Amino acid sequence: MDLGIKGRKALVCASSKGLGRGCAEALAEAGVDLVLNARGAEALEATAAVLRARYGVKVATVACDVTTPEGQAAVIAAAGDVDILVTNAGGPPPGMWSDWNRDDFIKALDANMLTPIALMTALMPGMIARGWGRVVNITSQSVKAPIATLGLSNAARTGLTGYVAGTARQVAPQGVIINNLLPGAHATDRAEKLDADAAKAKGISIAEAKAQRVAAIPARRYGTPQDFGAMCAFLCSERAGFIVGQNILLDGGIMNATL
Ligand code: NAP
Repeated sequence: MDLGIKGRKALVCASSKGLGRGCAEALAEAGVDLVLNARGAEALEATAAVLRARYGVKVATVACDVTTPEGQAAVIAAAGDVDILVTNAGGPPPGMWSDWNRDDFIKALDANMLTPIALMTALMPGMIARGWGRVVNITSQSVKAPIATLGLSNAARTGLTGYVAGTARQVAPQGVIINNLLPGAHATDRAEKLDADAAKAKGISIAEAKAQRVAAIPARRYGTPQDFGAMCAFLCSERAGFIVGQNILLDGGIMNATL
């Protein structure tokens, strides 16, 4: 299928590795020029070099923490007149409800709710002026089915989801389409850390912890950054103009729900 976005330009945040990189790679395959971001410059430049060589698209890089005001200003300046925005950042740490104070919540809200909102606020006016735009926010399955130990994530990402539900309807008439992608377990550094945490908590090996998690997933595997990127590129495509304000779960069927 021709996604119809060859020659468009995208900002993909937190994209040197993992799900963000999967989204960047699928967009590059569709012929989209990219602005990539991550804190660590080395992995960021390595990813940019691979995508330039493999797909022949233009790739700019911004090494910064996208959750800070300075980082946001830097990626917004580099993004310029982008047509596509993919928001992403690392997730908050796990814990217990009784562990978290106001500062922990402010940090989680800044990273996983207010950062995507700030980027949309800065970049959607240009998309509206040009009559075309796509935004995909990487959130989490925890928006639909809470993960008890990830209370900071549950709270911040649900706030973003509520914001998108209304805003997507305000900007769709001007050709800007916002949707959220909700990852379940995907094979990235983050998943490996969660496996290691589970192994430690249960006193078992990391391989056993992973096997237990995989056994609970009807698809019997973790998702891949390629699975995730393909859906992201479709939501950023010309073909997705009638999908507005949706929360699309990519979890191998682990959430047991009819709708
Ligand atoms: P990952 O493998 O840890 O990759 C994170 C990427 O984001 C790296 O390129 C990292 O580079 C960059 N990054 C992290 N924090 C950043 C920041 N503050 N500013 C700029 N770049 C940043 O994570 P992932 O598994 O792809 O997950 C992506 C998001 O999906 C996270 O919010 C995660 O909580 C959520 N999620 C993941 C899963 C899963 O199974 N993988 C499931 C549910 C939800 P640097 O470290 O160099 O900055």
